[in-house]
Amino acid sequence: MQVAIIGGGWAGLAAAVTLAEQHIPVTLFESAAQLGGRARRVEINGLALDNGQHIFLGVYRETLRLLAQVGVVIRDACYASPLTLQVEPEFYLRAARLPAPWHLAAGLLRSRGISLRDKFSAVRFLSALKHAQFTVAPDLTVAALLAKHRQSTALNDYLWHPLCLAALNTPPQSAAAQVFVNVLRDAFFGVRDDSRLLLPRVDLGRLFPDAAARYLHAHIGTLCLNQRIQRIEVAAEGFMLHHAQDAESFSHVICAVPAHRVANLLGHLAPLHAAIAQINALRYQPIYTVYLQYDATVRLRFPMLGLTQTLSQWVFDRGALTNQPGLMAVVISAEGAHEKLSHAELASIVAKELQGKLGLVGPPHWTQVIAEKRATFACTPNLARPNNQTPLPGLWLAGDYTASAYPATLEAAVRSGIDSARRVLSASAT
Ligand SMILES: Cc1cc2nc3c(=O)[nH]c(=O)nc-3n(C[C@H](O)[C@H](O)[C@H](O)COP(=O)(O)OP(=O)(O)OC[C@H]3O[C@@H](n4cnc5c(N)ncnc54)[C@H](O)[C@@H]3O)c2cc1C
Repeated sequence: MQVAIIGGGWAGLAAAVTLAEQHIPVTLFESAAQLGGRARRVEINGLALDNGQHIFLGVYRETLRLLAQVGVVIRDACYASPLTLQVEPEFYLRAARLPAPWHLAAGLLRSRGISLRDKFSAVRFLSALKHAQFTVAPDLTVAALLAKHRQSTALNDYLWHPLCLAALNTPPQSAAAQVFVNVLRDAFFGVRDDSRLLLPRVDLGRLFPDAAARYLHAHIGTLCLNQRIQRIEVAAEGFMLHHAQDAESFSHVICAVPAHRVANLLGHLAPLHAAIAQINALRYQPIYTVYLQYDATVRLRFPMLGLTQTLSQWVFDRGALTNQPGLMAVVISAEGAHEKLSHAELASIVAKELQGKLGLVGPPHWTQVIAEKRATFACTPNLARPNNQTPLPGLWLAGDYTASAYPATLEAAVRSGIDSARRVLSASAT
């Protein structure tokens, strides 16, 4: 048995680690010079940064298990905090030390910056979702769901819209209410620690891909970087994978490339036409990260602060997180007016916002904008996402876009990789 994995993002790496653990020989092909895909390290001005600031939640069980499996000590690699949301100018919510969901209910009732009426309205909304067993009409948007439950403008601005953008990377007006409700259910109604915020203390490369590569080297794994797979052909006993140097044959293939690359590789395979049609129907949303380097003494009150009525949505203090004093990472999720600006214009507006809203004294010494135009698929209602299992025996799809209760997240990607690998294992056992 020879398994090929195409794509060295978190889905492909999760699949590779899962197979290597079972002593299955795997070869992972990655077209870029480095692993990590959309969650990777980038070097800027001599600093190890990320292509985008990432947040993990305690409920990312498979991701956290996988990190531990490859030797990452989570308490060293991540800053962990009970759910805390500080959104300027005045909203503050911190989950209480109570079992779920009372930790959130008490946190909401004790929160600052919204009226008593709003606090009860938010608690009522969450209990109504629980009462409905976390099921809503499949065609409902987040905005329509919030309107149905009469959530006020303040609640939407401070709480629900920021959560929707952070989790689904899709504007509430077009985001799928059911997927949003799935996230609320799993983060807030399981155990208290599920809602913990985990913010990486190391760059994303060190967080997982580097450790996964070491794990694969120590097990039966071959990593081929700078190796784009150009074509896949069905062969007598599996598949032929063509790359610039050669063609190699494999008994099983897990295709873990981003959704927009799948049709190029697999579009000619008739049994996959239904899956390709679902993938081609996906639309994408951007995420912009603006890095701003201030004096080393500049700090935030909490490592992650939200802003409203600004282009900037969340500000992360990389001094407090990754020991890069004075460096701020500002995240702007989903489509918006910022896409029309040049990077210099955007950085200048963001710097003014940080000065006006947070008192960060500028101008910053340098700025850098990283625009991921296809950061995630647009998580809209009634989306059909392809299964990991394909109709072609021996071929699986993995990636954050495949069928999942979750939006495009690291946890969805990792689960898809593990699921595909387990299916390879059970296929080989029969
Ligand atoms: C800026 C940004 C911020 C984000 N923030 C969060 C967050 O806070 N929390 C969260 O959970 N998620 C977040 N996400 C989403 C998360 O990063 C993705 O869901 C996840 O990384 C997707 O992993 P993947 O393995 O499915 O795909 P990818 O990471 O896209 O991996 C696919 C890999 O395949 C390779 N490839 C493509 N074609 C070929 C080929 N022909 N041959 C060989 N290799 C090929 C690519 O180079 C890539 O490395 C964010 C994403 C971005 C972009």
